[in-house]
Amino acid sequence: MPVTSFCARRHAGRAAIAATVVAALASIVGPGPVRAAADTDAERVATGLRETAAAGRNIAWDWVSELTTRFGPRPAGSASEHAAAEWAAARLRTLGFDEVRIETFPVTAWVRGTETAQIVAPFPQPLVIAALGESPPTPPAGIEAEVVVFGSLEELQAAPPGSLTGRVAMVAAAMVRTEDGAGYSSAVGARIDGPRDAARRGAIAFLLRSTGTGTHRFAHTGTTRYVDGRVPIPSFALSAPDALQIQRLAALGDKVRVRLTSTARYIEGARSQNVIAEVRGSERPREIVLLGAHLDSWDQGTGAIDDAAGTAIVVAAARLIHELPQRPRRTVRIVLFGSEEVAQPAVPFGAFGGHAYARAHRAELPEHVLAGESDLGADRVYALALPPPWAKSGFAHSAARVLAPIGVLMSPGPPDDVGTDVQPSVDGGVPGMELNQDATRYFDIHHTPDDTLERIDRAQLDQNVAAWAALAWLAADSGQLPARTPAEPAPP
Ligand SMILES: [Zn+2]
Repeated sequence: MPVTSFCARRHAGRAAIAATVVAALASIVGPGPVRAAADTDAERVATGLRETAAAGRNIAWDWVSELTTRFGPRPAGSASEHAAAEWAAARLRTLGFDEVRIETFPVTAWVRGTETAQIVAPFPQPLVIAALGESPPTPPAGIEAEVVVFGSLEELQAAPPGSLTGRVAMVAAAMVRTEDGAGYSSAVGARIDGPRDAARRGAIAFLLRSTGTGTHRFAHTGTTRYVDGRVPIPSFALSAPDALQIQRLAALGDKVRVRLTSTARYIEGARSQNVIAEVRGSERPREIVLLGAHLDSWDQGTGAIDDAAGTAIVVAAARLIHELPQRPRRTVRIVLFGSEEVAQPAVPFGAFGGHAYARAHRAELPEHVLAGESDLGADRVYALALPPPWAKSGFAHSAARVLAPIGVLMSPGPPDDVGTDVQPSVDGGVPGMELNQDATRYFDIHHTPDDTLERIDRAQLDQNVAAWAALAWLAADSGQLPARTPAEPAPP
């Protein structure tokens, strides 16, 4: 997974559009005959799980409510992230899961501190900003300089060396809203590489219009990239209205000067952790179906849609399986990853919980039969993308029959992005799948102070649990999985 994908998954537009059209048709004609064909034991059990979850008989809401209320924001490497992991492990033990454990790993943590921003000329105006994750602080006296506005990252990259000396570079590009979240992957490059490219041209600070679709006065934080072990200049996201204000001022021909302060700091030698729990398989317990999500969050909200909701969805799905009178043949393993949101100063730079898991479980990866991650909020699932060898299998037909009644259709293409945390395992040869979620409103809220429990729609949360529970059961119990294609393990 490239470092550019921090905390949002990219999706193929073509698959989404096709699935949306088919979903709309399905909602008109109803599930009809496909349901009658659910004739195997695995499909029957999966259908029961789907119905139970969709009716709200699952623990997802209680989990996401308690996690976000009790611990609030859970920045990577923080005390609250650690306490949330301890709570999650204790709760999973109480719920009766098998093999519950916490696996720790070192991280460099980042703390926001306080930050301020104003336009100081032509007339004073306050600005709403958020330092980008991993941004260094300003000098104690702050930075005051003229802003140079660029319409896109490419325009900034076309500026000659030295042309920004002593100035603040700003990228004003707007993110496009799409159902599949594809607008994020084309917009996030400015957040990831903008500080580096601005610094190379002499800029002393970097601003960007938030990588988000909302027009409220919130700034969307999110990590940027370390370059040779450091983020080169203080870097901030502006709320969309503030970015537009600066753009208009500049267009009026005025020189815009801003003043920026930040007391951000780093904590070397911090610890983060992955929480693991299982429903052990009855016949092939060493074969694993991995369901992932991440426990850490950004600091501005309570990390409800990103990604307490994902942890609730996979825990609730696995819990429904655990409550059945019979075990699946294979093991269902949930992994609540730590430190998904932040970059690190050294290789592999990002997805730290994901990399820690893939390293620690390297010997087991050949026995992981399927892996997926819930990390695009809590709105409804509309498509399932399976790894290519599975696409025409009996398993795919079973999944299609079980998922169609809740509006989930088969994606015509392979997974576009399996999720930041499971990607290192997929790079190590594990087949990856993707349950695509409706991301239309996700990027209005993503990484803002507005990411709170109130943004979660309970009925859609239940639909997610229904899809994950049914699919996990099918994968863990199916007798018709495609043979695993041997893959070269990725380097550590
Ligand atoms: Zn996330």
